[in-house]
Amino acid sequence: MKIVRVLGQDVKYPDVCACCLAKSTTTLEVRKEDLAALALALSSAAARVAAARSAGGAGLLRDSRAVKVPYCEVCSGHVRWKRSGGWLGVALHVPVDAFFGLLLGLVVAAVVGAAGIGGAELDFDHPNWFVIGFFVAGGIVLGLMTMRWRPRGPLGRQHASNGDALQIARFTGSEIVLRCHNNQFADKLREANPGSALSTGA
Ligand SMILES: [Zn+2]
Ligand SMILES: [Zn+2]
Repeated sequence: MKIVRVLGQDVKYPDVCACCLAKSTTTLEVRKEDLAALALALSSAAARVAAARSAGGAGLLRDSRAVKVPYCEVCSGHVRWKRSGGWLGVALHVPVDAFFGLLLGLVVAAVVGAAGIGGAELDFDHPNWFVIGFFVAGGIVLGLMTMRWRPRGPLGRQHASNGDALQIARFTGSEIVLRCHNNQFADKLREANPGSALSTGA
């Protein structure tokens, strides 16, 4: 793992995947909140608001930074899969989405009943289970869709990480420090950003 320090606000990326160095086809956003700055903001909110006003709002925006990391199709899949919690994430998402489907289905069934569409009547003792079932099934399908990101077999050695290959270590208003799990990507990243510095992470 290598650490790359990039000066300025903009990070330029080589067009290769941050995980496996294949040609990048997509990007995933990583975000970091500056917890120290947020704590400071909470403890002295009034002072921060005053400071932010005088700085045109820029003072508050600096508390979080997001970068768009290039990935290939395969890696964006395994990173999303890892982020969503893998199989446990699917097990948690499906019942939650099914529940929201049930709520939405009840609302739609009531509206359909009230409007008398297709000869249906508003009847709370006999709700339209066809409509409700449709939305519950939709919720289940939505929950199961996380599965499309699951890796189709073990990841090869070219993958730097099964989760995020690049993370924001820290940032200030004038620089951003990126933690790269792929050392070669770190080298390319440094080349793409003149003036940036490289150090080996622990
Ligand atoms: Zn890749
Ligand atoms: Zn990968």
